[in-house]
Parts: sequence; C-alpha cells; structure tokens
Amino acid sequence: MPLFIDIHTHQLTVEENGLRIHNLAVNQPGFCADEYFRIYHTERFFSAGIHPWFLQRELVGKGMEILENLLENQQILMVGECGLDRIVSIDFEFQKEVFIRQILLAEKLQKPLIIHCVRAFPELIAIKKRLNVKVPMIVHGFNNNLQICEQLVKNQFYISLGAALLNPGSNASKAVCTVPLNQLFLETDDKNCTISSIFAVTSEYLGLSIEDLQEAIAQNFRKITEI
Ligand SMILES: [Zn+2]
Repeated sequence: MPLFIDIHTHQLTVEENGLRIHNLAVNQPGFCADEYFRIYHTERFFSAGIHPWFLQRELVGKGMEILENLLENQQILMVGECGLDRIVSIDFEFQKEVFIRQILLAEKLQKPLIIHCVRAFPELIAIKKRLNVKVPMIVHGFNNNLQICEQLVKNQFYISLGAALLNPGSNASKAVCTVPLNQLFLETDDKNCTISSIFAVTSEYLGLSIEDLQEAIAQNFRKITEI
C-alpha cells in the first residue's frame, strides 16, 4: 500500500495510509518523553532535538543528555528539529554551538538531521561544508526564494515543503519544480492540513501521479533511514 510520508509533523492524529515523523522538542517547556511514548507506543516514528526557540543556557547540558538517551530508541529516526533562527532573540553564536553539538551527535549515531532554518542559510551551508557533514540534512518547511533553494540543492540538502504549497503565490510553490525529485520531502509541520492534500497539490505541480510521487518520496525516505 503506497504511503503518504509526512517527514515532519507536530500533529497528533493519524491519517489513513499516512506515515508520520512526529517531532519531539526535548527542551520545550513541559516536554515529557515518557508521556509521548505512552500515547504513541507502537508503530510510531519520531524525530527528537533541541529547538532553537526554547534554548536556555543552563538547560542545554541536561537537554543533550536526554536527547542522547532518547536517540537510542529505534523509533526515533532523526535528530531535530534543530537549527538556526535569526528572528528569535536568542544569541546566534549560542544557537550555532547547540546546533553543532546536535550535528556531531547525529554523525555519531548515523541518523539524519531535520533542520529549522530562518534567515540563516549562508551559515547553515557553511557549517555543513566546514564540518563535512555526511548524514542527510533535511531543511524543513522551506518557503524561500529560488536562489536559496538552488544553493541548498547544490549542497546536497534535502528540501521539505509543506502547507505553503497550498498557496499558489508562495515561494514554496515557485520552488517545488526546481527541487530534484530525489531531494524532496513533504510535511504538514504544525499546520492544520492533511499530508494527502500536500501530496495532491505537489503531484499537480510536478505532473506526476500521486502513486509515483508517493514512491519517489518513499525511496528518499528509505535512503535516508538506511544510512
Ligand atoms: Zn516543526
């Protein structure tokens, strides 16, 4: 049965034929890993990371410890979302430091990274080059201009597009045809939409059947999770 793979979501529901990677922000206030695993026991997949929005210097050590323990769980497929955000007021150098710690952890564990990046694409690309990161890096919720998209593609990032595709005038809608199919993912993130609707609109943009699109995304998914 072909699946609608949702590479990054904060939604709690499950869709028919859906496979979701549910995001856990271990440093989000009130986060409790046990609670998630109680609700989401079997057959669920997760990503887990320290989100730049909730960074607190005194909690990073503990957060990394929780993260490292959590990542031993086979259901947690990816590290993140983690990354860089120029809009929040948290010190940017500190954000970089915590991001790099998570990249090194992902490399050690051989798990892909799911990345939050706001107005920091040159730095993101520079970090990938400088550290010579080998695990797949997925930029989630991409909704930026074609030039940045091209740079990311050229530097072997995967691009995940989401609800912005439902708006024909968005940057994501302009970028979707320029992302090579073998570097593309789709997601719902925290938006109130279905992953099947994102697949439907993407299949129209690309002139592909839903089944072919599902298969292409599934192939990318197999590739990144078998590293
Ligand atoms: Zn998210």
